[in-house]
Formats: sequence, structure tokens, C-alpha cells
Amino acid sequence: MDKSSIEKKYIFGPVPSRRLGRSLGVDLVPYKICTFDCIYCDVGRTTHKTISRQPFVSPEEIQRELELTLSILNKKPDYITLSGSGEPTLNKNIGEIIRKIKEVTSIPIAVLTNGSLLFRDEVRKNILQADFVLPSLDAITPALFEYINRPHSSLRIEEIISGLIQFRKQYQGQIWLEVLFCRGVNDGKEEVEKLKDVIEKVEPDRIQLNTSVRPPAEDFVFPLTLKQLENIKEKLGDHAGVVSEFMGPMGDRFDSDKDAEIIELIKRRPCTAEDISRALGLHLDEVVKYLGKLIKEGSVHYRMHEHHCYYEGTLIH
Ligand code: SF4
Repeated sequence: MDKSSIEKKYIFGPVPSRRLGRSLGVDLVPYKICTFDCIYCDVGRTTHKTISRQPFVSPEEIQRELELTLSILNKKPDYITLSGSGEPTLNKNIGEIIRKIKEVTSIPIAVLTNGSLLFRDEVRKNILQADFVLPSLDAITPALFEYINRPHSSLRIEEIISGLIQFRKQYQGQIWLEVLFCRGVNDGKEEVEKLKDVIEKVEPDRIQLNTSVRPPAEDFVFPLTLKQLENIKEKLGDHAGVVSEFMGPMGDRFDSDKDAEIIELIKRRPCTAEDISRALGLHLDEVVKYLGKLIKEGSVHYRMHEHHCYYEGTLIH
């Protein structure tokens, strides 16, 4: 079988994840279905905001694609991450998908979720078998929650918090809670104190402090400086840490066409040339050469954000 002929519909990467090292992604919902429409979202604005769970893709199909993808990688990814172009718990097959992935590999499974549906019993139950769950929580004050996350009209922050607390009681794996700060929005002293109180009740194993380093959905969103994040970290205690840019060598490449690999990588998340270089194990000069060609062809474009150049696929969404 010609390995380069594998068409990947749901699996992407490995991508350099600032939170999970070298992560092989599984996209469980089509672009861009989410329960939120966060102002900082680096995937773009939500086109279908919903709380209705759908099957979207068959667990068998994901299992098959994953098996094929793992068979062509020279080096195992650190994690298999259920995430993608929206909220993965909207996929009502997520429990079965986790089971099917575990049948073919022992690589730890992480679920990246906005936590908005964890107040539902069946959603908590569906992800109990994951090894890591990475929920997010950006604001406690209802008005701030509405502003920053722009949730589906039926969602209430109080309910979401109680879902997170209930999940902690049931779940045996690691919970790494992410708080994403936007300058002048949720980084005030009072809000940070409220976050601290709630986080103490949720009892995550880690608190990952992040900011909008990639181009956000809205151009009025600005990141915090490292110093500002460090100050917040001091207030949130021992389990808190600032998410740093992932710098480890990815040292791997798919045995297939490089243009397609680059487009595959950036179609889900904007990446810098350095990100692409690490993800695909290509020398930076080589990446720049390919990007120049793809820009000329019109299949890639770039945007500047906070003095960094991010490349995005033009044809994708
Ligand atoms: S950041 Fe996550 S939760 Fe927020 S809109 Fe984007 S995909 Fe949805």
C-alpha cells in the first residue's frame, strides 16, 4: 500500500501543542460547531452555535484512520488529543471513540474541552476513560463569561462550574484546567480572586495559564505579557503554571507530499514558520521555501499578530 495515499479526514498532525507537546489531533466536530464563540478563538468565529450533540463521525472510521496514521509515523506522538474545529463533547460518540482508540494504541488520550456540557451526566460519563481532560474556565462573573465566551443562550456559568466540580469527584485521571486571559478583560484583581475560589473547589491537578498568542477571532483581543501571567500565577498557587511556547524538537515527518503536510497542519490552527518546522521536522529554510510557493499559488496566506507572522490555509474553511 502506498502510505502517502492515505487521506486523512479526522486525524491531523502531530502538531506542536503548547500544552501537550507533540500531539496527534482527532477532529470530532465539523468546522466550526461549538457551544461557545470565544472572542479569542484561533479557529475563527463559530458558524453553528449549539448544545445539541450529534454523532458526526463513526467511531470505526476514526479507529481505521488512526491505525493507518500511526502505521506511517516514525515516532509516536506524546498524546492523542480529541479536539479540533469546535467543542469535541458535542460529538455524542465520544465515549465509544475513546474506547476504539484504546483498542489500537496505548498512547494517552487527552480531551480538550470548554467544559460547557459537563453539567450533563452522560457527557461526564462519556469522557471518564480519557487519561487527561483539559477543560477551560475563563471567567466567573456572568457578564464577563458572556462577553469573553459568547456562549449558547441556554448555558449558565454557575451550571458549568458545578459540572466541573462534579466531574472532579467522578474522574480518576488528570484534570489540567486552562484559563485564557485577554488583556483588560478577565485579568483584573477581582476576577482573578473569584477564579481562585472556584478553582479551589474544582481541584484540578494543574492550572494552565494561557493568553491569546495566536490570531484571535476578534481584533480587539490582546494578549497579556509573560510578566502579567507570572503575576497571576503567583496568586493562583502551586498548581498554576504559565503555558510556554512548545520548543521541543518534533523530529518526525509524514512520508508524503510536503505541500499537503503544511496545508494539513495549518488548516486547523494558524502556525508560525517555526511551529511548522518543529511539527514536521523540516529545516526552517525549507519551510520558508514551501510557504513562499504556497502563498504564490494562493493556497496559503498570512496574518500578523503581536509581531509574529501566522500562516493559514486559504481554501479550507
Ligand atoms: S476557543 Fe474553543 S470553546 Fe471557544 S469558540 Fe473556539 S473552539 Fe469553541
